[in-house]
Amino acid sequence: MTREALTEIKDYLKNYDGEPINIMEVCGSHTAAIAKSGIKSLLSEKINLVSGPGCPVCVTPSAYIDRLIELSLKPDTCVCTFGDLLRVPGSTESLNIAKGKGARVEMVYSPMDIVDMAKADAATTFVFAAVGFETTTPVYALLIDTIVSEKIDNIRLLTALKTMPAVIEHLLENKAPIDAFIAPGHVSVVTGSRIFEPVSEKYDIPFAVSGFEGEQILEAIYGLVKTRGKGKVLNFYPEVVSEEGNTVAKELVDKYFEVTSAGWRGMGIIDGSGLKIRDEFSNLDAGSDGLTEDIKKNKACRCDHVLMGKLTPKDCPLYGKGCTPLNPQGACMVSEEGCCHTWISNYR
Ligand code: SF4
Repeated sequence: MTREALTEIKDYLKNYDGEPINIMEVCGSHTAAIAKSGIKSLLSEKINLVSGPGCPVCVTPSAYIDRLIELSLKPDTCVCTFGDLLRVPGSTESLNIAKGKGARVEMVYSPMDIVDMAKADAATTFVFAAVGFETTTPVYALLIDTIVSEKIDNIRLLTALKTMPAVIEHLLENKAPIDAFIAPGHVSVVTGSRIFEPVSEKYDIPFAVSGFEGEQILEAIYGLVKTRGKGKVLNFYPEVVSEEGNTVAKELVDKYFEVTSAGWRGMGIIDGSGLKIRDEFSNLDAGSDGLTEDIKKNKACRCDHVLMGKLTPKDCPLYGKGCTPLNPQGACMVSEEGCCHTWISNYR
């Protein structure tokens, strides 16, 4: 973008005086990028950015965490997970607290790390906590591909895999006050931008695929304001996102996973919004079915409304009081991509 074009966009967005518009950034990485770039201070009061359900840790129901804890306490079993999930509250405690009581839990940086661990300790069953969106599912598919081809019999996956279009449609069906979406950027790399066309056209709501730099996000917001009320998918990230996405990754995912209903923290069960391991590979599943119950550790937590764009974190009575990054009461305060974590770190 030229300096002149950027200046024009900034002027327009700062002085915008049209109908108020609510734009949801679906993805937690965009929420964090918007905060770090100070984007909100560059917008007219009539352009309101709200955060969405695109932080995988934030939308994982408590029953899933409870099941991980149960597995980690079994003899000869080790639960492996990314670091974020360790502090997410289950119905009574987190994996971290369980670990302090003797549960066997290991933090890893890649699902593939578990392959070497399993080969080195054949007496232990290693369970990977496979949480995430379309972005991370290809890596889980690769893990299963390795398990199958190398005939490794002591690795299982506990899955809580989500997909984006169905939850976005769920928000619109449930009258979330959204006029436009910044589409999840990393997800779009895998899925392609075309995946958002059906919901965009059905609800006459524009989507903009955007990168994560401040200028890219401003350009996307400008595009959305200009196309308000139109069912269009705009791609401002074409150097990385194509219409079709990564077909190799999608084929690998399709080989091992199939579409299923999924439980979302605060939103309940949403049809067709998740992926599960195909029946022919179900021996690799550590018992993922039916982990949809979501019991709040703290009843005052408003994560459910925050994730749907109906409240901001500051509307929660616990924000910054009972709930902080050091003592999270809800999942949105745990991950650096969680909306409440981002707000408390940047907008105090
Ligand atoms: Fe939940 Fe804490 Fe956010 Fe409140 S501030 S909604 S308790 S995560």
